[in-house]
Amino acid sequence: MAARTVSALITGANRGLGLEMVKQMLEGPIPVGKLFASCRDPDGPKSEALQTLAKKYPDIIHIVRMDISDLCSIKESVQQVDSVLGKEGLNLLINNAGILTRCSLQDCTPEDMQSIFNTNVVGPMNIIKEFLPLLRDAAKASKIPGMSCSKAAAVSISSIMGSMEMVKGTYSLCPVTSYRVSKAGLNMLTVCAAEELKNDEILFSSLHPGWVRTDMGGEDGEIDAQESVEGMLRVLASLTEKQNGAFLDYKGKTVPW
Ligand code: NAP
Repeated sequence: MAARTVSALITGANRGLGLEMVKQMLEGPIPVGKLFASCRDPDGPKSEALQTLAKKYPDIIHIVRMDISDLCSIKESVQQVDSVLGKEGLNLLINNAGILTRCSLQDCTPEDMQSIFNTNVVGPMNIIKEFLPLLRDAAKASKIPGMSCSKAAAVSISSIMGSMEMVKGTYSLCPVTSYRVSKAGLNMLTVCAAEELKNDEILFSSLHPGWVRTDMGGEDGEIDAQESVEGMLRVLASLTEKQNGAFLDYKGKTVPW
């Protein structure tokens, strides 16, 4: 009997970790039937690789325009996804898109902080809220007991930069105050969502992808996107209600808050 396929949505799917997730989810440990690859400029030059991939897998990949810093854009994308999925709902939502501004506390302006917070925290919050009916539909439609990414889950790609316990050991290497504050906020969003929505059987967790050689991670990163995503997909496939609200890295290790 063929394995049941799940539906998934990834934000920031046109490059970096998001694009690699789209590639690997086509043949990853969680069999995907419908994959919504969202990005803010699907017709622009930075989305060419995603467009090429979508043309190869037209039955699976649906490109959806979504600027995560714009609530109207998020609402429009929900309608688009809903019109494809119907009552089956959305099984897996991956809040991947994010930005980093290289500023220490003394360089950071109110505008830097507001802009990064808007993308890295307010965006994922709005996305979780707006897609909640679809996640609830998926949880209700699923016959799988407990919690899992094959049933209903929202996973946010966070960072050890948001770990308060690790600041002493990492700050001098990477003094990015606004980014750190935003990822700590994103982690709190995960924990609040996990607590508030546990009776809906929707799983929430934060994942650290490693230090990865992407545009954001730079060429000195420790691992490439392929290794990071292979690890994250393995972790996603292993999540149960025991990891609801957890902060894990791409190897499945718990990251201290
Ligand atoms: P990246 O290569 O810079 O890619 C960032 C992605 O986010 C791009 O697709 C970008 O789209 C998208 N994005 C940014 N703002 C957006 C918006 N308002 N609406 C829609 N999409 C938006 O970064 P990455 O390394 O793949 O990072 C992915 C995630 O992993 C981020 O959340 C990041 O914080 C996290 N992370 C990365 C590392 C690392 O070492 N790379 C480490 C820890 C955590 P455009 O092409 O339109 O700009």
